[in-house]
Amino acid sequence: MNQRSAVNPSPVDLTNCDREPIHIPGLIQPHGLLLVLKEPQLEIIQLSNNTFQFLKLHPQQLLNRPLKDLLGSEQIEYLEKCLLKDFESVNPLKLTIETTEQNLAFDGIIHRSDGVLILELEPTQLEQEANFFSFYHLVKSPTAKMQNASSVQALSEVIVQQVRNLTGFDRVMLYRFNPEGAGAVIAEDKLEGPSPYLGLHYPASDIPKQASQLYTLNRLRLIPHVSYQPVELIPLNNPVTDRPLDLSFSVLRSVSPIHIEYLTNMGVAASMSISLVKDKQLWGLIACHHQSAKYLSYEVRTACEFLGQVMSLELAAKQDNEDLDYRMKLKLIQSQFVASIPQSEDFIEGLAKSESNLLNLASAQGVALSSGDDLVLIGKTPPEAEIKALIEWLGTKIQQDVFSTDALPKIYPPAEKFKAVASGLLALAISKTQHNYVLWFRPEVIQTVNWGGNPEKPVEIAPDGSLHLSPRKSFELWQETVRCKSLAWKPCEIEAALELKSAVIGIVLRKADELARINIELERSNSELDAFAYIASHDLKEPLRGIHNYSSFLIEDYAEVLNEEGNSKLQTLVRLTQRMEDLIDSLLHFSRLGRVELTMQRTNLNELVQNVVDVLQISWKEAAVDIRIPQPLPIVRCDPVQVSEVFSNLISNAIKYNDKTDKQVEIGWLVDAAPPEHPQAEEEAGEPLLIFYIRDNGIGIREKHLDTIFRIFKRLHTANKYGGGTGAGLTIAKKIVERHGGKLWVESTYGTGSTFYFTLRRGE
Ligand code: ADP
Repeated sequence: MNQRSAVNPSPVDLTNCDREPIHIPGLIQPHGLLLVLKEPQLEIIQLSNNTFQFLKLHPQQLLNRPLKDLLGSEQIEYLEKCLLKDFESVNPLKLTIETTEQNLAFDGIIHRSDGVLILELEPTQLEQEANFFSFYHLVKSPTAKMQNASSVQALSEVIVQQVRNLTGFDRVMLYRFNPEGAGAVIAEDKLEGPSPYLGLHYPASDIPKQASQLYTLNRLRLIPHVSYQPVELIPLNNPVTDRPLDLSFSVLRSVSPIHIEYLTNMGVAASMSISLVKDKQLWGLIACHHQSAKYLSYEVRTACEFLGQVMSLELAAKQDNEDLDYRMKLKLIQSQFVASIPQSEDFIEGLAKSESNLLNLASAQGVALSSGDDLVLIGKTPPEAEIKALIEWLGTKIQQDVFSTDALPKIYPPAEKFKAVASGLLALAISKTQHNYVLWFRPEVIQTVNWGGNPEKPVEIAPDGSLHLSPRKSFELWQETVRCKSLAWKPCEIEAALELKSAVIGIVLRKADELARINIELERSNSELDAFAYIASHDLKEPLRGIHNYSSFLIEDYAEVLNEEGNSKLQTLVRLTQRMEDLIDSLLHFSRLGRVELTMQRTNLNELVQNVVDVLQISWKEAAVDIRIPQPLPIVRCDPVQVSEVFSNLISNAIKYNDKTDKQVEIGWLVDAAPPEHPQAEEEAGEPLLIFYIRDNGIGIREKHLDTIFRIFKRLHTANKYGGGTGAGLTIAKKIVERHGGKLWVESTYGTGSTFYFTLRRGE
């Protein structure tokens, strides 16, 4: 498993182990030759220092020479044709090189890198001819078996058997990695005898990041002799780039001495690994071990690589298949669940109604639903205060809509206290700003993990005091008891949580739609009502005028004919028609209010109120009224004509409904008052409205009448008492304030006085 840099420009230590440039070791394995060619002449500009062993030619004899000198023009022509094609389909090129002693056959593997052509030559048998049918035979039956496997586990078991059949390795294992990079052997096929590695775990540090990257690029790696002597390249740097040659895609690239040490410690003499990639990530590795040296031809390696690719493709389908039943169950829960939400006023209430569904949706034992400051707890959960703190922490942590961990105490230490109920957390943010979350909890499940040797990062202190990494020496079973962990969340459970969010949002949107529709309906019926009131009152006035006129004629012309009682009744009739006309006028006025547009403008309330008071004083000059305005009034945005009417109605009431000899009226605004003492002043956007008041020392209003006085035509007194009135003034004032986006309310002490409050928007 271990894969580290070979030629170390600087020693591998704890600070640089993850940055080791293992793709540019400047070395190859000795079982083949590497030639770096400059196109188009195909001049050899760099090569491995082992040409003499194979070709009886020293590197210096070949360096800067055309490849033609080595291969002859016929083979060069063949090579040039191949260069025009996709390398995957031409490799290996069957090449022959004439030496002084004999004709040698090679598999030539070509690829381009760093602006040069790299030709790697591996000796092969002369008569061995690659053809499609032999390859097809190699892979036909293994692929069919793999496709028949019903699950990822079955597939893994098939592939290790098939790779072992194909290659004859002593041991073939499949490591599966978790998202953190730690691996476990989930399938193994081996010789009888050596102890099994099946079920063993390996820490993420066994494969540094750059090695894992290389595994995803170059899907097969063969080390025929673990105890090989690496061969250096001459010159060391690629002459075109003047940098070490990039060997990421080379088949002969030398591997890290630490990896070699790791294999040796494991008792491995030859190894091969095939990468399994899913969604561009290294999903797993098929690792093949042999107790003696072992070489495999390019064809067999390609067949293994092909099987690895088939498995990579099959993985997604098999994994989807695996959870099918469970996913169907989740879907069912979800649909029952979603169906129950729309009947509820808010989503928390809707979700909480179906407790068991909510828990089952994520196979959790506890759920917390949070909305603003409200928290609903279901099942086994941490205490409320702990959840609130956890939500605060989540706010900073949760990037996407969902956050999950099966080891909460590791990333959030306060969770140590409640690990028994919540070692696992799946959090769904419905709205972060509103603190709307659904949190699912899973209890701690204490597990025993079998490691292939102590998984702690092996560090040795060198004589000079520096720290060095060295691979594990022992692969003895090493058992660890894992605490503070829950069962892992399955992707389909996380998906179900996410889908719940869409469902909840869908419902919220539907509710908003419904509200909008009701609003439109309401507006329509309001304006119809206004229109009706207008027409009705308008049409009523005509016959009323007739009654009034005829009553007046009767009084004038028949006063002598009628007795005193008759005259008095006629007088009442006239008075009542007069009152009815006043009522109709009020109704007309009220209905008009809803029909005219507001003419909003910046308005200086000091002038406006002064005018109102001046007008009122004309009619109340005989009464001793002390009108006080303790501080200048602010500038507001309003329709001044309508707001004058509000002040006029409230001030005249303050004077009217006052039986004190020393009548006092105070007109002012609450400079510092804001919500929450006056929640009415909270505007929807959050900006406070200004609060105005008109306070009197009058008769006051009984608590039970505080609401009814705002009903149209509602008076608490007989028609003529306290100067009379139609009972529409407050209704009109309220309607005006509400049309301005404000509120009007009253506080009163019976017998002592009343204060009427209303809000208006500040004039910017
Ligand atoms: P109106 O003054 O024409 O009767 P309003 O709508 O202005 O009609 O008032 C409705 C009722 O509320 C009044 O009849 C009165 O009983 C009561 N009211 C209004 N303002 C005051 C006040 N400042 N003090 C005591 N009672 C009041």
